[in-house]
Amino acid sequence: MLSIPGKKAFVASLLKRTRLTSLIPKLSPALLIVLAYHRIRPEEPGFDPPFDRGVFGPTVTEFEEQVGWLCRHYRILSEAELLALIARQAEPTDPCAVITFDDAYKDNYRRARPVLERHGAPAIFFVASDIVERRRLGWWDQIAYLVKQTTLDTLLFRGETFALADRVVVIRRFLRAMKCEPAERTERFVEELASACQVELPSVEAQDAELMTWDELRESAGGVIAIGSHTHTHRVLSTLPTEVQRNELARSKYEIERHIGKEVRTVAFPTGGANAFTARTMQLAQETGYTAAFSYLGPAPYNRWRSLQRFNLRRLCPPDSFAEFAATVALPSVFAR
Ligand SMILES: [Zn+2]
Repeated sequence: MLSIPGKKAFVASLLKRTRLTSLIPKLSPALLIVLAYHRIRPEEPGFDPPFDRGVFGPTVTEFEEQVGWLCRHYRILSEAELLALIARQAEPTDPCAVITFDDAYKDNYRRARPVLERHGAPAIFFVASDIVERRRLGWWDQIAYLVKQTTLDTLLFRGETFALADRVVVIRRFLRAMKCEPAERTERFVEELASACQVELPSVEAQDAELMTWDELRESAGGVIAIGSHTHTHRVLSTLPTEVQRNELARSKYEIERHIGKEVRTVAFPTGGANAFTARTMQLAQETGYTAAFSYLGPAPYNRWRSLQRFNLRRLCPPDSFAEFAATVALPSVFAR
C-alpha cells in the first residue's frame, strides 16, 4: 500500500501526465500563492554540501522549469504589484503567485537571479542584515557543518550519546530542537557542539563564500528583484521581548535601505511558523514602517484575497520535482506540506 506521501507523489505525477495541472489554475479559486525558496542546488548527482543540505531546493534546470510553468499559468506579482493589490483590497480573479528567497545565499544571486531575469519573473529576496554584514552563516548551517566534519563515530553531547552512522538524522534532530530557541541558547549550543565534535567553526572565508554581498544585493534590487527584510540577526521574534523585536525589525529596515538605496517595504519572519511570531510582532512590523509581512507554512500555507492578513502572508515550500511542484502550487489545500 502507498504511504500518504507516496499517494501524493502518485497523484501529482498522474496530474502532470494528464496535463491537468495546466487546467487546475484556471478552475481553482483565485488564491495568492507565495513560494518560499532558500537555495538553488547545483546540478551534481549526490550533492552533499559542507553546510545544511535541508535548505537546498531545486537545481537551476528544475527552477527554470518551475518559473516557466508559473509564467504560463499565473500572474507572478512583483512586491510593488502585490502591495498595490493589497492596498486596493482587490480580489483578482486570475491565479497569482509571488516568488521569494530567504537568507541571502550567494546562489540566489548566481543561480536564481539569471533564471528570474530571463523569464522577466519578479521575486523578493529576504535578507537578515547582520548575517550579510558579519558574513556569518546561521546556526542551522553551523550545526550541520560541525556534525558533518567531525571524525568521531559517536558524539557525547549534553549527557546524550548520538551514533554518527547516519549524520543526517542527527543534524535533523538538532535543527528541530533549535528552531524556536532564544538566540543566546542557539549560540551556546553551537559553541558546545563544536567542542563536543572536536571541530573548529567554519572559517570566515568559507562562510563569506556562501552569502550575497551588499554590492550583489544592490545590483539585484535594480531589476526584477525587490529586497525585503528577514530581521537583523534572524532570531525567532516570538522568543524576544517587545523592544528587542522592535529593534530587530527597525534596524534591519534601516541597514538594508542604507546599503541598497531603496525602501524596504516587506519583512519575512525568521523560521516563520505559527509559533515564530505573535499578534504583537505583526503590530510591531506595521509600527516600524513595513507594509506587509510574510510567514511560512502553517496548516493552510496559501492566501485567499478576501481573508488576506497583510502582516501574515502565508508562504509554502515548493517541492523540487516538477510534478509535485505543479500539483502543490495548483492545489495547495491537498498537496502543500
Ligand atoms: Zn531564514
